[in-house]
Amino acid sequence: MLITTAQFAIGAVDLAAAFLFLFGLQRMSSPVTAPSGIKVAGVGMAVAVLASFLYVFSVEDAAKPFLVTNISLAVIALVVGGGIAWFAGKRVAMTAMPQMVAIYNGLGGGAAGAIAAVELFGGKYSGLTQLGVTLLGALIGAVSMSGSIIAWAKLDGVLNRPMRFKGQRELNALVLLVTIAVGGTIVFATSMRDFLDISTSGLIYGFLALSLVLGILLTLPIGGADMPVVISIYNAFTGLAVGLEGFVLQNPALMIAGMVVGAAGMLLTLLMAQAMNRSIANVLFSNFGEVSAQKQGAIKGELKPTAAGDAGIAMRYASKVIIIPGYGLAVAQGQQKLYEFVKLLQAGGVNVKFAIHPVAGRMPGQMDVLLAEAGVPYDMIFQLEDINADFATTDVALVIGANDVVNPAARTDRSSPIFGMPILDADKAKQVYVVKRGEGKGYAGIVNSLFYGDNCNMVYGDAQAVLIKMIEAVRGLGLPAAA
Ligand code: NDP
Repeated sequence: MLITTAQFAIGAVDLAAAFLFLFGLQRMSSPVTAPSGIKVAGVGMAVAVLASFLYVFSVEDAAKPFLVTNISLAVIALVVGGGIAWFAGKRVAMTAMPQMVAIYNGLGGGAAGAIAAVELFGGKYSGLTQLGVTLLGALIGAVSMSGSIIAWAKLDGVLNRPMRFKGQRELNALVLLVTIAVGGTIVFATSMRDFLDISTSGLIYGFLALSLVLGILLTLPIGGADMPVVISIYNAFTGLAVGLEGFVLQNPALMIAGMVVGAAGMLLTLLMAQAMNRSIANVLFSNFGEVSAQKQGAIKGELKPTAAGDAGIAMRYASKVIIIPGYGLAVAQGQQKLYEFVKLLQAGGVNVKFAIHPVAGRMPGQMDVLLAEAGVPYDMIFQLEDINADFATTDVALVIGANDVVNPAARTDRSSPIFGMPILDADKAKQVYVVKRGEGKGYAGIVNSLFYGDNCNMVYGDAQAVLIKMIEAVRGLGLPAAA
């Protein structure tokens, strides 16, 4: 079979786009190269979109009349969608990133589902494989879309409690079975269309509606705090749906991009679950935050508050300080003040390092991005396995807006819900200062025995406000900077 010049050009541009996706992704593996990786992958996406427009020139390809006749609609959609994303991306707060990822992921799943719907209503496929793959893509895409919207609503506080009822799992299983049965009927009716006059449109509408309902039902019972893991799972789903639709459309860029997103989403989900020492089933089917508090063992000791200024001055006279940022630092947007404080310490000759836990914050990498935003050099930032041994020889560990990631119960208390989760060994430092607003618990909903330790003092207040006081106190010493 001869291929036309336009088809050859489309193939070549698709291949270039796929290469850019992979190259971009490879660069995202390090914080140093990640910003350029994001740009490279963005260019890849622009190239892939351009490739779609090349179909206009392959007019003899009768399989693509939709795009050819709807160029103006496609351009309007690109301008409106791109414009909204541009402004939303610029305005979003760091703490609202998980919500943004959730909503964009939902849109990706919806796009894959919509492609599948167009193909299904077009009625072009009668072969079992193509029809089956299209239906599977539609199911996964629709589940990902409605599930991600519920995840967004939970993260944003629009829906603020898990919704559980008796027989919920049975109902979910029933809806899944009915959806599969409707899908099977569509395949049967399509394969028999030469002999029987059965319309499939009603079935297709039913199949898509059931898939959307399934996404909602599966996500409603999961607690809001587990939503980042759920979003990661749906991210893998969206990638899979896009990859399947790429197969249906025989579009290599879609296939590769979808599979890369699917694999990356699945790996990320596994890494998040591993870093929390939980199974994916536990995330999906347990009520983590709500039950965990009841399981905890007794904690001895008392909380010992101290003034922000005193803690700041103590760090100025220390020789080695490790800072552990957590979710609260992102909430307080205290990263700029934190780095200002660190520069003061460094000017006084203090050796300062940052220790990052893999699941500190509410998204993997959130703390790295936060510190990068403040201009903290990468060589000051250390991951858990590279820094944990240092705590034993450290004068001060400054825990700022972090909680679970430094809870020693993970090492010692078998009854603790976070037992087995790797933690940063802040408790091994000579002195620990914990900055938080009050006695609020962390994500796991449990009390932290570190706060009650003999070597620990609490500095109560919003992280940014506390840092401002620490800076003032150290500046107030009027000490000359180290040579
Ligand atoms: P935590 O959620 O354990 O604790 C955050 C602490 O910050 C709270 O105890 C809170 O106490 C304090 N805080 C909140 N706002 C402020 C503020 N404005 N100023 C100062 N302190 C504040 O955070 P960690 O980062 O230690 O741990 C992350 C948790 O999230 C882990 O349990 C992890 O498993 C989980 N998780 C992480 C994901 C990820 O990918 N990163 C995904 C899903 C879950 P107070 O209210 O008293 O101020």
